Amino acid sequence: MALERIDGQPRAVALLRRALETDRVAHAYAFVGPAGAGRTATALAFAQALLCPARGCGACHTCRLAAAGQHGDLHVLAPTPPETNPKGARAIRIGAIRALERLASLRPVMASRKVFVLDEAERMTGEAPQAFLKTLEEPPASTVLILILPRTRALPATVLSRCQIVRFEPRQDDAAAAVRAQAFELLVEVRAKGADEMFRRAERTDRERAEGLVDAYWLWARDLLLAHAGAPAALFVNADRAGELAREAPRWTLDELLRAVALCREARLALAHNVTPRLTLEMLLSRFALRAA
Ligand SMILES: [Zn+2]
Repeated sequence: MALERIDGQPRAVALLRRALETDRVAHAYAFVGPAGAGRTATALAFAQALLCPARGCGACHTCRLAAAGQHGDLHVLAPTPPETNPKGARAIRIGAIRALERLASLRPVMASRKVFVLDEAERMTGEAPQAFLKTLEEPPASTVLILILPRTRALPATVLSRCQIVRFEPRQDDAAAAVRAQAFELLVEVRAKGADEMFRRAERTDRERAEGLVDAYWLWARDLLLAHAGAPAALFVNADRAGELAREAPRWTLDELLRAVALCREARLALAHNVTPRLTLEMLLSRFALRAA
């Protein structure tokens, strides 16, 4: 698949195309974003563009081999169960990183460079991240490494700091719609039952769920802002709740809405910096649910 056929990630694709066009390709990339955002498809499309003499024409022998996973200079590493226990936890172990290191030290066999894609790089265990860091510190010639991971903190900062980070947005798909629905339900419940319910519900929130909810409230605040400004419902992310948005928007002042948006941004940052998910969610819920009740 060619880069231009990657949907829904215009910023990531633009960044990679620019690197190709200006021939300023980094030694290592970290594709960071949620599963399902198209990170792996993009990594493979980028790899194809890096290997193809015409930057990923999609039609030549190189592109066809790369697309089929048969290109000698494209290596995809994924976590595997332990050799002794096929049902054990999947991981990228030190042995796999050593093998990568060996392959990376060789000349490309077909193209002008080699590309390594590490899928689920957050599953590097034990000494693997440290060994991988060595490879990053002395990048082998004509080699591009692409790490795929869900969050930047999923790997040591020393590793990430040597990668160019490419962010992938969550897809506006069914999963995101489901989280938005949950976020709205939570809002309604907390409004109906008050602060006690808020504390009870926030208690059992893990980080992943908190991130999803914060994003949902962020979009809710954005929609409220649009509704407040009299924008047409077609512009709302929560277009299915246009009625609720129209009723709620007048209860907020513009300033309050702008502060709520800022609060969501801060909450997202706080979660990235390890503030407990419970506190973050309580803070947001008290603004959204209790304030506008
Ligand atoms: Zn090609």
